[in-house]
Amino acid sequence: MIVASVLIPLPVPEAFDYEVPEGLDVARGDQVAVPLGPRLIRGIVTEVRETTGSNRKLKRVDSVLDDPRLPSRTVDFVEWAARWTLSPPGEMAATALKGLRAPRPRPERRVRRFGDRLPARPTAARAGVLEALGDRALAAADLARAAGASSGVVKGLIDEGVLEVIEITAEAAFAAPDPDHAPATLNPDQAAAADAMAEATSRGGFAAFLLDGVTGSGKTEAYLEAVARTLRADPAAQILILLPEIALTQDLIARITARFGTAPAEWHSGIAPPRRRVVWEAVVAGRCNIVVGARSALFLPYPNLKLIVVDEEHDGSFKQEDGLVYHGRDLAVARARIEGGTVVLASATPSLETLWNAQQGRYRWLKLAARHGAAVLPDIQLLDLRQTPPDPQTWLSQPLREAIGETLLKGEQTLLFLNRRGYAPVVLCRACGHRLTSPDTDSWLVEHRYTGRLVCHLTGFSMARPKHCPSCGAEDSLVSVGPGVERVEEEVRQLFPQARTAVFSSDTVPDARSARALIQTMKDGGIDILVATQAAAKGHNFPNLTLVGVVDADLGLRGGDLRAAERTFQLLTQATGRAGRAERPGRALLQTWTPEHPVLIALAAADRDGFVEAEMAEREAAALPPYGRLAALILSGEDAAAVERLAQALAQNIPNAERLEVYGPADAPLGLIRGRRRKRLLVRADRDVDIQAFLRAWLSRVKVPGSVRLSVDVDPYSF
Ligand code: ADP
Repeated sequence: MIVASVLIPLPVPEAFDYEVPEGLDVARGDQVAVPLGPRLIRGIVTEVRETTGSNRKLKRVDSVLDDPRLPSRTVDFVEWAARWTLSPPGEMAATALKGLRAPRPRPERRVRRFGDRLPARPTAARAGVLEALGDRALAAADLARAAGASSGVVKGLIDEGVLEVIEITAEAAFAAPDPDHAPATLNPDQAAAADAMAEATSRGGFAAFLLDGVTGSGKTEAYLEAVARTLRADPAAQILILLPEIALTQDLIARITARFGTAPAEWHSGIAPPRRRVVWEAVVAGRCNIVVGARSALFLPYPNLKLIVVDEEHDGSFKQEDGLVYHGRDLAVARARIEGGTVVLASATPSLETLWNAQQGRYRWLKLAARHGAAVLPDIQLLDLRQTPPDPQTWLSQPLREAIGETLLKGEQTLLFLNRRGYAPVVLCRACGHRLTSPDTDSWLVEHRYTGRLVCHLTGFSMARPKHCPSCGAEDSLVSVGPGVERVEEEVRQLFPQARTAVFSSDTVPDARSARALIQTMKDGGIDILVATQAAAKGHNFPNLTLVGVVDADLGLRGGDLRAAERTFQLLTQATGRAGRAERPGRALLQTWTPEHPVLIALAAADRDGFVEAEMAEREAAALPPYGRLAALILSGEDAAAVERLAQALAQNIPNAERLEVYGPADAPLGLIRGRRRKRLLVRADRDVDIQAFLRAWLSRVKVPGSVRLSVDVDPYSF
C-alpha cells in the first residue's frame, strides 16, 4: 500500500498518514484534500512511501488539489524550521500557504494607444493625455490624473477609438528585471564585496556573508550589484531581500525599480490578500525574480532561490514573538543552507551573534570602510545633564536648545530622538503616590495628549484621564511624570514657535502610507524639527538633517536585559547616523546622566570595536550568547494555580543534561497580562549542547493542561 504523510495547516504536532488510492499520482510538496473528522481539509504531502503489512485502517487521500506543488526544498525548510523552533510543523506549513487563502484579484482595465490612430478633433487637453500616456497602459483614472485632464477627455478618446481598453491580469505584472538598466559605478570596497557575493551565487552551494559598513557606506548599492550579477548569470534566479520594518520597504522598492527598470514583488502584512495570492503564484511558478519583504517572505515557495539579503540584520524586529516564535535572520541563514544559496547579512551595527560567526570564519566578512562620496560620520558629543540640567518639567538642556536654534538658523533639520510613545510614561497621584496601571496587567498607563487618553501599550486598554485619583479619590491630584515624544514636541513648540515640528511614532503614523507621507515631507524639507521614536531612526536618508539630539541616552541601558547594552548601542548608532548623510557634516548630541557608562563612551568615540570587545568579554564570562545558548519556556493562563502547578511539574522533571542549567520558575518579565499569569523557565546551555533535544525530552515528561498555554522560545531575543 502507498502511504502519504500529510501536514495539515493547523496547530497539530505532526504529519498524519493517509492511504493513497490506486491511480492517484501523489508526490512530496503536492497540495491534497484529506479527510479530517467530518470534513475535507487542505494538506501538504511531505513523504510518499510504500508499506507492507500495516493493518492500521488509514483514511484515504481524497484528491490532489489543482494548486501548485511546493518545491521540495520549501518543504524541507518548513520541516526544519518547525524542528528548530519546536513549533507544530502544520502551523509552519500554514505560513507557507498564506498567500493562497485569498481570491485572485479581478483583472484590471487599462487604456493604451490603439495603433497610431490620431484624434479627429485635436485639442490641447487631448494632446496632453496622449503625451502623458506615451506607450504605456494605464488605468483611465490614473491617466487623467497624470495628464491633469478630466476623465471625460480620456473617455472621448476611447469612444473615438484613439485609445483602446485592455484587461490586465496581475500575473503579467512582474516584468523581468534588467541587470543593466542603470548600473552604479562602485567604489573599490563595494566592488570587492559585490564580486565576492556574486561569485558565491554563481558558484552555487551555501555561502554566508556579513556585509559590514557604517550607515551610508553603500551596502545597499553593493548588494544590489550582487543581485544584478546573480541575474545576469541566471535570469531565472530568485532573490529575497528582507527588511525589519514595513516602513522601510518603499525606499528600497524605489531604488530597485530605478536600478532594474521594474518593481520587485512586495510581501508583508500590509499587502492586501488578493495581491499576496498573485505574488505567491508568481513566486512558485518562477515568474518573479526579486521579492522585498518582511520575515514571513521567507516562507514563500521559491523554486530557485539563489540569494537572500537580510538588511539591518541586527534588528530585533526580525524576531517574531506572537504565534510562531522564530528569528527571521536565523531562519534566513537556514533557508539559504537548505537551498544551497547565498545569504548576506547587512548592518552598520551587526548583532554579536553575527559578529561572532564572522570572527569564527563561518561567515565571510565584507567591510565597507568609509561613507560613500564626501559624506562623513557625525560628530558625537555627550551632554552631561549633571552639569547642565534642564529646567524642571522640561527635557531639553541649554546646549541642546542652542544647537537646535543654530540648526534652524542655517535652514537645516533636526531630529530629536526619544524611544517613548505618547506624552508621559507614568501618571501619578500627588496625594497618595498611586501610579495608574492597566487592569489585570503589570503595565503603567501611558498618557497620550493627541487622543486625550491613558493607554496600556501591552493590551491596548485605554480610558479617559480621570479627574479624581482612582485610589484615594483626591481631586486634580494626578500629574504626568516624565517625557514621551508628544511632550518633547510641546516643549519644542514653546521654544521655537516659528519652526515646523512634527512627531513620528506609531501613534501619529499608524500605517505605512502615513509613514511614507511624513518621511517624504521630511525629505522635502517641510519639517524643521522631527521628534521621533525608533520608527524614524532606522534606515531613512534625510539629506538636510544635520543635528540629532538624543533626549534620554540612558533609557535603554536600564533594566537587566541580556541585550540592553547591545540594543542601545545599535539604536543610538542608527539614530545618530541619520545626521550628515549628504555633503553636509552632521552632529549628534546625547543627553545623559551617566556619561561614564561604557556604552556611551564607545558611542561618543565611534568605537564600535571597543564596545564589541568589552561586551563579548562579558558574555563569554557568563557563557551567554553568542558563547552559550538560551531557551525560554513561557507558561501563561488565567488560572494562576494551574500555571504554578505546571511550572512546578516542569521543575521537578528536568532531564539529566550536562553543560546545561535551568533557572526558575520565576515570574516572566511581564508577569500579568490581561489577567493571565505568566511564569518562565530559562535554559542556558553550552553552544554544542543540542538544546532542542533537551527541550523535547523535557516537554514529553509533563502534560500541559488545556487551561495553560506553553510557548517555547529558542534563542530568545529579549527577556
Ligand atoms: P547603506 O546601505 O550602507 O546605508 P547606501 O547604499 O544606501 O548605503 O548608500 C548611501 C548613499 O550613497 C545612497 O544615496 C546611495 O545612492 C549613494 N551611493 C552609494 N554607493 C554609491 C556609488 N557607488 N555610486 C553612487 N552613489 C552611491
